[in-house]
Amino acid sequence: MIPSISPESLEAWLLWQQKFQPFTFNEKFAEEINSSISEEIAKSFREAGVIPVQKTVSVSVTTAEKSVEEPIDDSLPPLEKVRIKAGRCSACRLAAKRTNMVFGEGNENADIMFIGEGPGEDEDLSGRPFVGKAGQLLTKIIENGMKIPRSQVYIANIVKCRPPANRDPMPDEAQCCIGFLKEQIKIVNPKVLILLGKVAMKNLLGIESSMSKARETTYEYEGIKVFVTYHPSALLRNEAYKRPVWEDIKKAMKYLGMM
Ligand code: SF4
Repeated sequence: MIPSISPESLEAWLLWQQKFQPFTFNEKFAEEINSSISEEIAKSFREAGVIPVQKTVSVSVTTAEKSVEEPIDDSLPPLEKVRIKAGRCSACRLAAKRTNMVFGEGNENADIMFIGEGPGEDEDLSGRPFVGKAGQLLTKIIENGMKIPRSQVYIANIVKCRPPANRDPMPDEAQCCIGFLKEQIKIVNPKVLILLGKVAMKNLLGIESSMSKARETTYEYEGIKVFVTYHPSALLRNEAYKRPVWEDIKKAMKYLGMM
């Protein structure tokens, strides 16, 4: 006998599918699933055998790393191995529409690592981070302000694939992807991290305050000194951020003995 499902349950099921089906799940999603379906609806699913919804959902923990299946040549340099893993990754919805995965670039032994939020259109098309208008501004800050070549620093983002219409990465996308960034930071092992914008600050430091408040102090990530400042795209929209950004960059330079 096929058990019946109420229209409300069916609607909830379709909504649930729309929301979660494109993902590979991790534990956090499992919590969301549990909290997003009422016990009554979950019961009707169970009875219908549609989906094994239960209060403790058993799902495999999938990280961006685990989505890689083929073996990677162990003799490759560590960053290259991570780059290959990211290139094969489809752990979140952003994989579907990317032209290129944008891993990051720069000096693998850099003292300074800049971290933005995610690729935009120019970056998606080129496969390189910070090459659009905001990227050109960042290059100016590095080369004209800090007086070092861009190739001397390392530049990466919280997510490696372009969020549609240049929106901010969603928390679940950032959570899926951040493992790659953490590996990059570990391998490059810079003396200073400069986080560009609130998305980077929130996802790496867990800080959600306004940038004006957050930049009053410095932070630490895994023993690395962290400075936060406005994203160059905010600077493009509002010239008033020019002075605080330069102040933040100078703080990092002073810490490194560059001035
Ligand atoms: S954004 Fe990150 S986690 Fe999502 S598909 Fe791209 S590489 Fe994978």
